[in-house]
Amino acid sequence: MLIAANWKMNLNKFSIEDFAGTLYEYEFTKQVKLCIFPSIIHVNYLKDMIATLPVAVGGQTCHYEKRGAFTGDISADALLEAGCEYVLLGHSERRKYHNESNSFIKKCATTALHNGLIPIICVGENIREREDDIATKVVENQLNECMPDEFGEIVIAYEPLWSIGTGKIPTMKQIMEMHGVIKQTVGLQSKLVKVLYGGSVNISNASEILSVDNVDGLLVGGASLHANELLQIYNLAAEQCQI
Ligand code: PEP
Repeated sequence: MLIAANWKMNLNKFSIEDFAGTLYEYEFTKQVKLCIFPSIIHVNYLKDMIATLPVAVGGQTCHYEKRGAFTGDISADALLEAGCEYVLLGHSERRKYHNESNSFIKKCATTALHNGLIPIICVGENIREREDDIATKVVENQLNECMPDEFGEIVIAYEPLWSIGTGKIPTMKQIMEMHGVIKQTVGLQSKLVKVLYGGSVNISNASEILSVDNVDGLLVGGASLHANELLQIYNLAAEQCQI
């Protein structure tokens, strides 16, 4: 299982130091991988802080070009150089505030794979699409347009937009159905593709979500900002692996 902690534009050097201190008191298991996505300026700092822990670090986005005149962007190469293993791509906030399109995300995912990073491609429907009963179609379309043509280790995060930061989550049946559709859509690649659920995950709902078929882990936003909360969620994932 994979637990991905998306810190977004939060935390600073002091809170990261505290966070790392709590991580050092914890015993991690091989069955569950934890990856933290700090803001880009803190990638090196966090990496140094947790150097001897089995915890991965990732970037919150990357560009599809290797280098060049792209002010404010970050290359896959630079993420790798900083010790990142994963990169989040197409998060709904990037799609919304930076107009990232499916074709842009596909190019970024392809570059990430070529550079040895594991892309976590985010997909999910908005509330209107869910109510109009076209959520499955929307997600299938996103996958068809975002998935790189090459084989490789890829993670998909199913994040219904109406669930992110709202405290609302889909029913377990809806999660199971959507994760099934995602695994089917990515077809041949499915053995190498993990599917995470993301959207208002917390310590009260994590266990139930993790027990759903085809849920290979979680993408956690708000609840990942507190080390104790994140570690409790990690613990629930570790317990789920024992079942
Ligand atoms: C997210 O933005 O990826 C996310 C899952 O946020 P939250 O857990 O706060 O809903």
